[in-house]
Amino acid sequence: QQDLKGRILELNKMAAKYFYYQLRTENGAQAMEYLKGRRLSDETIKGFGLGYANKYSDDLYRYLKKQGISDELLRESGLMNVDERHGMYDKFWNRVIFPIMDVNGRVIGFGGRVMGDGKPKYLNSPETKVFDKSRNLYGLNIARTSRQKNLLVCEGYMDVISMHQAGFKNAVASLGTALTTQHASLLKRYTDEVILTYDSDAAGTKAALRAVPILKAAGIAARVLHMDPYKDPDEFIKAEGAEAFQERIDKAENSFMFEISVLEKEYDMKDPEGKTSFFNETAKKLAAFEVELERENYIEATAAKYHIGFDNLRKLVNRMALRG
Ligand code: ATP
Ligand code: MN
Ligand code: MN
Ligand code: MN
Repeated sequence: QQDLKGRILELNKMAAKYFYYQLRTENGAQAMEYLKGRRLSDETIKGFGLGYANKYSDDLYRYLKKQGISDELLRESGLMNVDERHGMYDKFWNRVIFPIMDVNGRVIGFGGRVMGDGKPKYLNSPETKVFDKSRNLYGLNIARTSRQKNLLVCEGYMDVISMHQAGFKNAVASLGTALTTQHASLLKRYTDEVILTYDSDAAGTKAALRAVPILKAAGIAARVLHMDPYKDPDEFIKAEGAEAFQERIDKAENSFMFEISVLEKEYDMKDPEGKTSFFNETAKKLAAFEVELERENYIEATAAKYHIGFDNLRKLVNRMALRG
């Protein structure tokens, strides 16, 4: 008897194949159209093993039962919902399916997206014996072989897929959850530099600010890509194309400059008082750099960015350091 993890992985593979096949039947035509409407090529759809869960909520259940799968294993897999009124039935129905692979390419879970504006927009597999969201990154099985000097970390399935299709095969996603220390140590196995490409909304900015110290603690340098005026990498690439995205990558700010540009927005920079407070806060942050040369470099970059004198800023930083 195979261990439970192995059996769940086998079952997931079976389900992924079923979803993949369904996307290519008449039933899946609408889902295929949806994906084409999002500008995904056949090659991309195939490469990510995308699929479709039929609109009958017992479709996968019946298929898997025919294959002799036990209810007990189905329950462990997270592929089914169970409630008293309906018994056991498919978790995913009438959704586009994104199989989630671990770094070795084994299917550990699924995401499902409604085609259109329904709610919830995405459904994800629950945590199971093989699926731990805090330890896996979507797309890493491909990104790890990309031979780039850095990895791009974004929020969502479609972001990863669009970036890969545009040639940025070093993109991974933490799938809506915050970046964890486990994610960071996983990333550290493959790279020393991460470029955060989170959504440009308030939630994405907050997520980036939180991710920076976690990455740093793992010994990973972080830069942050400026996505404005677009919401996320998928939309950026659709609107501006791969070359423009590459330019944004090249111009991605280092995490400190990003942090102070977020800080800046909290102050009224037209008001001398507001501006002074901002520089005091910034100087405090600069004072926290322990290595002198590094501190000097950041003082220089900050002074240049905000058009103030290097010596003035350094004096302020030293004062903050003394207070420290
Ligand atoms: P799309 O471009 O398809 O609209 P998105 O990736 O831009 O999707 P966001 O709302 O930015 O969607 O969410 C980012 C990621 O967070 C999603 O890809 C998904 O992994 C996760 N997510 C979003 N909404 C939900 C939800 N309701 N439940 C669980 N996870 C979600
Ligand atoms: Mn978002
Ligand atoms: Mn998004
Ligand atoms: Mn999006």
